Amino acid sequence: MDRYVVVGNPVAHSLSPRIHARFAAELGERIEYATLEAPPDGFRAAALAFFASGGRGANVTLPFKVEAFELAEHASDRARAAGAANFLARRGDRIEADNTDGAGLVTDLRDNLRVALAGARILLVGAGGAARGVVAPLLAERPRALVIANRDVERAKSLAHRFAAAGPTSATSLDAADGGTYDVVLNATSASTLGEPLPLPDAVFRPGMLAYDLAYGAAAAGFVARAKARGARASDGLGMLVEQAAESYFLWRGRRPATAEVIAGLRAPAP
Ligand code: NAP
Repeated sequence: MDRYVVVGNPVAHSLSPRIHARFAAELGERIEYATLEAPPDGFRAAALAFFASGGRGANVTLPFKVEAFELAEHASDRARAAGAANFLARRGDRIEADNTDGAGLVTDLRDNLRVALAGARILLVGAGGAARGVVAPLLAERPRALVIANRDVERAKSLAHRFAAAGPTSATSLDAADGGTYDVVLNATSASTLGEPLPLPDAVFRPGMLAYDLAYGAAAAGFVARAKARGARASDGLGMLVEQAAESYFLWRGRRPATAEVIAGLRAPAP
């Protein structure tokens, strides 16, 4: 049976094994997909041992996405643009890297939440690994503007500069982020996951726009409630998680699973 893992630290909480088990069942395939917790300084050894033992592919989560990119002998354009990988596959005798996070976000926004990204004004909050991975896929949708706001504004400027040739990017500080009117506000900071307040002006949220937190579940509840209180439509990032997994499954196995029921199943309260 083909074996896959999600590597992280911590990783026991990961929903990926459940998601991939649902995909495999839906497609009538048999795969094994487990969690693999690597020590903080042991990602490389753990990943190489997994592939040496015949493992077919790995998803990679915090804090190892940059190391995963560096480990691979070949990286896709989107992994190179992000400088990070959440996907590894053994192809022949080499390990290849990709980054499916941006595709997952765009699919969730465009296909599940029905947001028109072409011509949209997008505020991307955050300039860490997740933000870096989603800028190029968002720009490929041809928004009217992609403004990057970050607590450390220099990181926002550097990210906007890095992708300037790919589309209309600019940067701002968090407290000045209400200087524009946005159709989509994306929280790609780790504030929700860390349980910290996000010092973003309430005025960025308004009726008719979508506020989206890349974090999901209880962690994103505060951001979602705050945006809804201002009349915005709001979502957490569970759909992104499932869509990046579907893209991974497709890259590994050449078959694309349907996602709607998997997302709904994960949202349903436990019986
Ligand atoms: P990261 O590389 O550590 O970056 C953290 C970012 O958050 C930086 O921009 C940082 O700003 C900002 N930040 C942290 N605490 C903050 C606070 N209290 N107020 C304002 N800004 C704050 O983390 P990451 O890998 O980008 O992950 C970010 C989020 O995306 C996490 O919640 C992660 O779970 C989520 N994510 C979700 C998916 C999915 O499939 N749904 C996939 C990938 C990531 P400074 O630069 O100023 O420090």
